[in-house]
Amino acid sequence: MSPENASPTAEPIPRKVIIIGSGPAGLTAAIYTARANLEPLLIEGEPSSNSDQPGGQLMLTTEVENFPGFPSGIMGPELMANFREQAARFGTEILTSKVSKVDLSQRPFKVWIGNSSAEPTYLAESIIVSTGAQSLMLGLEAEKRLLGHGLSTCATCDGFFFRDQDIAVVGGGDSAVEEAMFLSRFAATVTIIHRRDELRASKIMQDRAHDNPKIKFIWNTVVEDILGESSVEGLALRNLLTDERSTVGFTGVFVAIGHRPSTDLFRGQLDLKENGYLITQGSSSKTNIEGVFASGDVQDDYYRQAITAAGSGCMAAIDAERFLEDQGH
Ligand code: NAP
Repeated sequence: MSPENASPTAEPIPRKVIIIGSGPAGLTAAIYTARANLEPLLIEGEPSSNSDQPGGQLMLTTEVENFPGFPSGIMGPELMANFREQAARFGTEILTSKVSKVDLSQRPFKVWIGNSSAEPTYLAESIIVSTGAQSLMLGLEAEKRLLGHGLSTCATCDGFFFRDQDIAVVGGGDSAVEEAMFLSRFAATVTIIHRRDELRASKIMQDRAHDNPKIKFIWNTVVEDILGESSVEGLALRNLLTDERSTVGFTGVFVAIGHRPSTDLFRGQLDLKENGYLITQGSSSKTNIEGVFASGDVQDDYYRQAITAAGSGCMAAIDAERFLEDQGH
């Protein structure tokens, strides 16, 4: 019976493994745990807007050229559909819903879908957290239209498409400078647009950016709009000191103003780093709670790639499998 059909007094449904999240990490964990006969339940989330869809960040990407195995590249949504199909093929149950609450204080862990004051919907012997992270965005309407069409949040993923073009990077932290340095290998020019008159980035990164002849700066300036209907054509800018408005032509824009891991559900239960990412032990996927594992961008504030997320999903599946075996399952 699906939890939607279950009566309010229904008994919680026991599961050996519940995977929360459906990006490359969660779906890889599903493929591995399904093939290990653990009959995983993957709770994939549910769409609440264009930028909040099951499947993770690749659902917001156009062409993916750096995922091994696809020599001619593949569209992000198609790649995620393949992951999903492969997970389902081995018997993963995929639930299109959001987890509203978890209680990790004792095993079996409790997982709620929907009304979190009622009985839990599921009891899980182990949980793999793969809820990912989101790139922070500027909050402009145009971002929804142009993401993947000249607007990107990942230079490593998309920089190659911008050969010999004039590109803007928004932000002033280490990410913005790192993205700008990477993009300068391909682009004609890279302009860092920052809302203050000094970078937040570390001194060494600042020096590198200042020494790079392709990198220019526009200071004390915010982006008010991204121009272009079907692809990026430029930016509408406002100088915060003079209030002067201007329009500058760019064919690529990279927003690099930080990331936010999706860890709200676990706050107070799982150990988090200061920046909100989940802490995993050593090179494993183990969290501070035995039986709870974390994989993908929710615990990775450094590599943030689809292939590293998939790899860590595999690690979490193997860690969960060994844990369950030790518990006699
Ligand atoms: P960050 O350090 O938080 O910097 C975010 C930048 O974006 C800041 O310059 C901020 O401006 C700007 N910003 C934030 N919201 C904005 C908005 N709405 N509009 C315009 N600008 C906005 O984030 P990060 O650069 O992603 O770095 C995160 C952490 O990872 C940092 O600890 C960083 O050192 C680390 N990191 C390290 C490396 C490296 O060592 N190679 C590389 C990447 C990241 P303000 O400066 O005015 O606040």
